[in-house]
Amino acid sequence: MSAQVKVPFVSFKPLEQELDGDLRAAFERVYENSWYIEGSEDEKFEASFADYEGVPYCVGCGNGLDALVLSLKAFGIGEGDEVIVPSNTYIATALAVTYVGSKVVFVEPDINTYNIDPSLIEAAVTPKTKAIMPVHLYGQPCDMDPIMAIASAHGLKVIEDCAQAHGALYKDRKIGTFGDAAGFSFYPGKNLGALGDAGAAVTFDEEVAAKIRAYGNYGSDYKYHHIYKGNNSRLDELQAAFLSAKLPHLDRMNEERRRVASLYLEGIRNPLVTLPFVADYALPVWHIFAVRCDRRDELAAFLAEAGIGTNKHYPIPMHLQGAYADLGFKEGDFPIAELISKTELSLPMYYGMTDEQISYVIEKVNEFA
Ligand SMILES: *Cc1c(COP(=O)(O)O)cnc(C)c1O
Repeated sequence: MSAQVKVPFVSFKPLEQELDGDLRAAFERVYENSWYIEGSEDEKFEASFADYEGVPYCVGCGNGLDALVLSLKAFGIGEGDEVIVPSNTYIATALAVTYVGSKVVFVEPDINTYNIDPSLIEAAVTPKTKAIMPVHLYGQPCDMDPIMAIASAHGLKVIEDCAQAHGALYKDRKIGTFGDAAGFSFYPGKNLGALGDAGAAVTFDEEVAAKIRAYGNYGSDYKYHHIYKGNNSRLDELQAAFLSAKLPHLDRMNEERRRVASLYLEGIRNPLVTLPFVADYALPVWHIFAVRCDRRDELAAFLAEAGIGTNKHYPIPMHLQGAYADLGFKEGDFPIAELISKTELSLPMYYGMTDEQISYVIEKVNEFA
């Protein structure tokens, strides 16, 4: 049935071919040293990512989920506490809260930005609320000023989920530098991706950084000395070396995503398709180019037939996932998240798309009737 793939949803090949020599050299360097955990590569990447973010501390960890979990733990957030998360996000944000034993409190997104609606946060705050976890979803920065104002009025921590937005700017300042801590994922498909699982937390606070590091390293502050019941979530040397090879290209890759996005935004003209909105405070990095269409599944099938890969982020909102059945939510409880889950379609977006591929996607989306 399905045609030959002309434009995949995502491809890592263009970048990997460009950086082939650097990535192989990174492997060789680590392999020659025979040192795989907690070494110079980890230290070097942490320093360069902290520098990229403009923060003093970066702690590498096993993945993005753990970066969020370890940050929550570092602030002592756990059982009996509540944490506010957007109702429209990848499930990892909510799972981080669940893992530390806190209650997940969903707040609806704004239907234009798809990010948490700051005007709805205050109503969700209770005496048990300890933190807000804004997610810069699809590479679009959240409206941080009102979020930080609410947090400071209620004495809440802010932990930014930056897994989809490495390098995005809010009012000319990097996301990940507003909250008390921020978690990044370097899952291969993210804007900055390792060749496997990897993540990092960043913060301005030395003590918080030390706690995150200890919690991710068996609760150990120095070897065989354990102050917390920690877990094992460290950034391994190989992934750190690959990330160091890719980091210098992150801004250039994001710039290229912005070029693809601006061609899509200019070229796609179809009354059935709602294009993404970019707020005036935002310089997005387009992790995902999210359009909406009432006949989303038909549009996806039409594009698949034309050899264009698409994806849905995400087809089932978290409050209706089996994993959260215990929260007792039902259809209709978070209508905006539900609407997005039923209508969102992600178009191909990756570094190295050719002009021909971009034009072909635009042409086919415009043909859908
Ligand atoms: C990918 C992602 C995570 C988790 O990152 P992993 O590295 O896969 O654990 C967390 N939050 C969001 C919004 C994500 O997209």
